[in-house]
Amino acid sequence: MKSERDFGVFELLRKLTEAPGVSGREERIRELVLAETAGMWDETRVDSMGNLICFKAARAKKGGKKVTPPEKVMLACHMDEIGFYVRHIDEKGHVRIQNAGGFDTRNLFSKRVLVQGRKDLVGVLQPGGRPIHISTEEDRKRVPEVKDFYVDLFLPKAEVERNVRVGDPITLLQETYMIGDAICGKAMDNRVALWTGINALRKAGDRLRYDTYFVACVQEEVGLRGAMTAAYGINPDIGVAIDVTLACDTPGVEGHEAITTFGGGAAVKWMDSATISHHGLFEEFISIAKARKIKHQLEVLPRGGTDAGAVQRTRAGTKAITLSIPTRYIHTITEAIHKKDALATVDLLAAWLSA
Ligand SMILES: [Zn+2]
Repeated sequence: MKSERDFGVFELLRKLTEAPGVSGREERIRELVLAETAGMWDETRVDSMGNLICFKAARAKKGGKKVTPPEKVMLACHMDEIGFYVRHIDEKGHVRIQNAGGFDTRNLFSKRVLVQGRKDLVGVLQPGGRPIHISTEEDRKRVPEVKDFYVDLFLPKAEVERNVRVGDPITLLQETYMIGDAICGKAMDNRVALWTGINALRKAGDRLRYDTYFVACVQEEVGLRGAMTAAYGINPDIGVAIDVTLACDTPGVEGHEAITTFGGGAAVKWMDSATISHHGLFEEFISIAKARKIKHQLEVLPRGGTDAGAVQRTRAGTKAITLSIPTRYIHTITEAIHKKDALATVDLLAAWLSA
């Protein structure tokens, strides 16, 4: 029997999700992607923002016979995760934090965190205030804000100051698990997209119909910042963002608000608050999914956006769409994707890339 830690084809996803990479400090993820995909690309570069841009030429070029110049496709997979930065070290050595990206603070109580200081340090995240034994009813009703939280490193102030300074990154610390049909952990948003893009490109091999730029984008969670400059530099004809989307097919949410169904297949997005997809691309992805019998679902997300929003509006405009992986409990440390949805998204993207 396989051990529970044998992730098989999802081993890369385990590594990607467990590594830290808050928006603005994605270097460990970038190095991991580069190391894990060595030999896959015709060219790689890192731009000034920190976006990792991996290029693979279309098959027309591989065969040596040039027909029409192949169009350029940018696959945007953001590699940052929501997290924090050190804002202040107080008189007792407690670390006060600034968030990068949107947190529901109800999910932040009593979490372990990794502080990337002069060395990596583990701490615990707590909101200021009295514990339940001595709290008042008023205390218990209050939902703390991010500014009320601090990291306890259980070290004297002097030692904290030797190792930690303002601006150091802090991420939630969480192992990734296989639970039922799911892979569950932190940062599925959006390391599952890196995993999906890499696997789709492996599957498409040398059959790419477009010149393809796989971009591990920085700083999506703080406003699609990396994709904006990467798209300007690449100047693609088509942009496909890969990202997670809500799968709220769970208690307390009405059916019409579920957005997607967990296990319902790859989600082809029509719109969110940053983008309305290119109609032709939307139809193309659906017809390829139908022809290849790839399980898929259609998505409209009332609020939230992906890197497609930045790519679509670069320069004179780009045809853009998002492929989404349905995800439960987004922006918690129990973000979960269904293995079959992730595999279906790989199949759909690979089929489109090599159609
Ligand atoms: Zn995302």
